[in-house]
Amino acid sequence: MPGRGVEEVARERGIDPDDLIKLSSNENPHGPSPAAVEAIREHADRVNQYPKSSHTDLTAKIAELWDVDDEQVWVSPGADGSIDYLSRAALEPGDEVLVPSPGFAYYAMSSRYHHGGVTEYDLSPADGFAQDAETVLSAYGGERIVYVTSPHNPSGSTMPLDEVEAVADATAPETLVVVDEAYGEFADVDSAIPLVDERDDVAVLRTFSKAYGLAGLRIGYSVVPESWGEAYARVNTPFAANELACRAALAALDDDGHVEKTVETSRWARGYIADELDAPTVDSAGNFVLAAVGDGERVAEAAQERGVIIRDCTSFGLPEHVRISTGTREETREAVALLNETL
Ligand code: PMP
Repeated sequence: MPGRGVEEVARERGIDPDDLIKLSSNENPHGPSPAAVEAIREHADRVNQYPKSSHTDLTAKIAELWDVDDEQVWVSPGADGSIDYLSRAALEPGDEVLVPSPGFAYYAMSSRYHHGGVTEYDLSPADGFAQDAETVLSAYGGERIVYVTSPHNPSGSTMPLDEVEAVADATAPETLVVVDEAYGEFADVDSAIPLVDERDDVAVLRTFSKAYGLAGLRIGYSVVPESWGEAYARVNTPFAANELACRAALAALDDDGHVEKTVETSRWARGYIADELDAPTVDSAGNFVLAAVGDGERVAEAAQERGVIIRDCTSFGLPEHVRISTGTREETREAVALLNETL
């Protein structure tokens, strides 16, 4: 369930949107890369035409970045779009997917949209939502797709690559292990993409919504095993990734400085929240921190009254927690001070 918009909350509270600090949807507090905005402006007056080379140019650039074949890169409307493409390519009616609980809701939603079912494996708050093969495999029963989120939403925990490999080794050959790296840029661990090239049963999701700051454009991708490459033509809607989104993503990929600044701010803010918030927090490799506050709904509501929007984690099955996205240094300091008033 996406977080609520600043305008909506401001209207409801009768306050100026500029007076709100929105730390509920893990967005980039530095905004989009200026180079991406420039690229959108440059191509805006040609959107009367269907996309031309932008989609293939972006595919080729991503393939080069990760040293994989172009056919292995499935550009999509957000990582959400790739989840749908994988559901469509992998699931027959009645097939199941295995997903983390708590976890990102769209894996299950997409499976159900494609007439599939859902089984969950539990990550435990008591051990910091640690992710290992044993935990995943304890719930495995031949599901067609196994989702691993690393860094994990909402906790920020990661799964080491040897554990990902252990999951892939232990599951059936026709089971695809999908490693969701939507927050990969923020983590200090290697991507699982090299595994995709080594084997036939691992895929990786990535997005331009987080570190690249392009959430509103809906652009992401998956890297799939070579043998899956041809399925893209069957599962993709024509022109699914739009011209301006592809152009912006191409420009954003050239703007390393913006990503570096974003990641640096986020790592600082993670540490600041962990040190200064008057509540226990979970070690996070993402651009957010999960905090155990007792009554998440009450704290999120009290924070909102003070102008800070954070995520009440009741819908994740964690009613005692809130998730706080990392803001700019100024936003983070102010938000933590206001949140501490509510604790
Ligand atoms: N995976 C995870 C773990 C996420 O948290 C999100 C966004 N909240 C996504 C995928 C989807 O991102 P998008 O569709 O914006 O690329």
